[in-house]
Amino acid sequence: MSYRSVPRILGLFKAETMPGLAWIPHFTSVINWTLRLGLGLLNQVKAINTRWLAIIDHSIDIGTKKVLVVLRVPVDVLANKGAAIQLQDCECIGLKVCEQVNGESIALDLAAIFSQAGAPAAIIKDGDYTLAKGRLGLLATAFGTAVLLGWTLLGGLDVLNTALRDAVQPRFGDMAYQLSLLAAFALLGGLLDLPFDLYGTFRVEQQFGFNRTTPMLYAVDLVKSLAVGVVIGLPLAALILWIMRATGSWWWLWAWAAWAGFNLLIMVLYPTVIAPLFNKFSPLADDALVARVQALMQRCGFQAKGLFVMDGSRRSAHGNAYFTGLGAAKRVVFFDTLLAKLSPGEVEAVLAHELGHFKHRHVQKRIVMMFGASLAGLALLGWLAGQTGFYTGLGVSPNLGAPNDALALLLFGLVVPVFGFFVSPVMAMLSRRHEFEADAYASAQASAADLSSALLKLHEDNAATLTPDPLYVRFYYSHPPASERLAALAPRAA
Ligand SMILES: [Zn+2]
Repeated sequence: MSYRSVPRILGLFKAETMPGLAWIPHFTSVINWTLRLGLGLLNQVKAINTRWLAIIDHSIDIGTKKVLVVLRVPVDVLANKGAAIQLQDCECIGLKVCEQVNGESIALDLAAIFSQAGAPAAIIKDGDYTLAKGRLGLLATAFGTAVLLGWTLLGGLDVLNTALRDAVQPRFGDMAYQLSLLAAFALLGGLLDLPFDLYGTFRVEQQFGFNRTTPMLYAVDLVKSLAVGVVIGLPLAALILWIMRATGSWWWLWAWAAWAGFNLLIMVLYPTVIAPLFNKFSPLADDALVARVQALMQRCGFQAKGLFVMDGSRRSAHGNAYFTGLGAAKRVVFFDTLLAKLSPGEVEAVLAHELGHFKHRHVQKRIVMMFGASLAGLALLGWLAGQTGFYTGLGVSPNLGAPNDALALLLFGLVVPVFGFFVSPVMAMLSRRHEFEADAYASAQASAADLSSALLKLHEDNAATLTPDPLYVRFYYSHPPASERLAALAPRAA
């Protein structure tokens, strides 16, 4: 930092440009954490109240049509009546079509349906899993609040900054000091989050039979992530810090360009370099499925570089499928856990859903929004970084003999999620709308009935509650609840 900046910062100290505005982040913080804890509690209560619901999905033949029926019944009614249960004891949540079927023909099948072992058990597990995850989420939220307060108002970041500045800057210079501050903060943050991740993986996921990660694999993953963070994160941080110094008052525009370029680079590097560090990707070997999938892609006018199977079963029993890459380098990736559970028709329907996201340009829309938001954020930071109140209001004294850029980045990173949370219902709503659009596309290009049954299997596999709290859904659900998606697919599946 040049000595010319010292009077500038001293001047800011005197000017106290925004003393009255310092309360904004704290006030927002209080509202934010109250809202998050409240939403979490709401969903917990809802999960407790509805954990006795059972879901039964079953295909029945009515004349020439095969119909998927999704019913839910209170578990105690099922226990009392057993196979003698009647249609009026059930609520149809899945397919509207079952209302049009005469009650008798379904009642005849009910005995057979309910005698299927496992179906009611699955949904009780869903309720318990939702509760256990929710409890951990509430704890993590409360802990996160304490950590944020510790960093800002209680002076944690100030202490860390002073210690590193005095120890590193005189000997190794401004850049080394700033990078050491960013690295130390990231390490400490990671260490503080580690107990929650460990508990989530080895207790919650383990308890419900989803975890496949061994402690050894977990440790290796941790070391690899750290290495990737150092190799990618440090040069990027150094570049941004250099831009902040070198490019004057428009630094935020240059930093944004660097950030955007970095993100595009990661989109290319992730599938080819980073993901293979953690998982094995082998070409899809099932010829019949390959032919089926290629026919679908041709029908949809879609080009991809390859079809891959990923060994997701190494870490978790949850299944998934996704696209990665940009332009013509796109790849289709299926989790082995997904292929193990779904029939070829269901795999095709799931892929058609993913193709729907591409046809509707959902990915591009998301990238444009992300870039727009980061430009606005950096412009705001460009202004905030020069305001003394931004530092002092958050419990940190700005450096006098060293640059404040790393500090500004850290404080901004701490505060943005507090404000960003209020935008999350808009983003989640957009995402849920995209899911419906992709479902509609999939049912036009593949079988809607197959997509329905795939959704049910995945739903069971992911053990999400069937009856989340509606307000909680608005804030947190990027995908609509399974029952809503099934209901939207019902007219097409009939
Ligand atoms: Zn989707």
